[in-house]
Amino acid sequence: MIDFQSILGAIAAEAKSKKDKGVVATYIPELARVDKNKFGISLLDNKGNLYNAGDAAEQFSIQSIAKVLSLSMAFRILGDNLWNRVGVEPSGDPFNHLSLLEMEKGVPRNPLINAGAIVVADVLISQFKNPKSEFLHYVRSIANDPSINYDQKVALSEKKTGFRNYAAANLIKSYNNLHNDIEEVLDFYFHMCSLTLSCRQLVNVFYMFVNRGKCLQNHTYLDINQVKRINAIMLTSGFYDEAGEFAFEVGLPGKSGVGGGIVALLPNDFCVATWSPGLNKKGNSKLGMQALEKLTTRTGLSIF
Ligand code: GLN
Repeated sequence: MIDFQSILGAIAAEAKSKKDKGVVATYIPELARVDKNKFGISLLDNKGNLYNAGDAAEQFSIQSIAKVLSLSMAFRILGDNLWNRVGVEPSGDPFNHLSLLEMEKGVPRNPLINAGAIVVADVLISQFKNPKSEFLHYVRSIANDPSINYDQKVALSEKKTGFRNYAAANLIKSYNNLHNDIEEVLDFYFHMCSLTLSCRQLVNVFYMFVNRGKCLQNHTYLDINQVKRINAIMLTSGFYDEAGEFAFEVGLPGKSGVGGGIVALLPNDFCVATWSPGLNKKGNSKLGMQALEKLTTRTGLSIF
């Protein structure tokens, strides 16, 4: 039996003592203010055992990690028709890249870059009268945790500084791949990014991607093929232009956010979340990536 608790404890202690912790995102004050010395890690195994170390219970802005959850919600509803609106190829570009090459006729390369997540937000708006509350309800019920919420201040700041997201939405709209009002689509997108969770809560929500589409309470949200596809997209596109490096170093499908969170998983085995607010040059958590490399190397557990 692998002693996850002592492995996580050692990884957290090593992270806390590191001098170079990367650079905290500064594009909105709510993220710029976060203490760079925070480090949390949680792991939930396939028997439901939860292991934590460091600041695992502290909540943070999950930002782009939410794109996986909105993707799963849209995929559940639209099935494979979703792929008419968004592609599944890695972009090799930063998350907010606007190059026309990234979109063929207004179809963003994948659902985990901003342009793709904006299309997914549009898809969900077309389905629901009140998409913000439906999405929140979806995440809360997967986690069986009604305390999960948006951070309204973060959502508002995102809106004030989201010039590139407005540009992306306008570009997509010009190709007729956004069917709703741009303000409404981006308001929903910014709220999704503002979801606030701890590492403990994140592993709980992402457990369904470990457990063949079933959450901890054994409710089915996705079928096994849908889980396969979403995990594949996380592996190839979860870390923007660093997806290759993450596969090489860590060897797990996963997703990062500019709030410094990373969630990753080994199908049928475990889900792990890390939080360290300092980012590397590619916008992924610097110590989070190092911690996950240590975890898969020390346990010998990865998809490879
Ligand atoms: N809210 C951020 C944005 O849209 C999310 C970016 C991220 O986490 N990579 O720019």
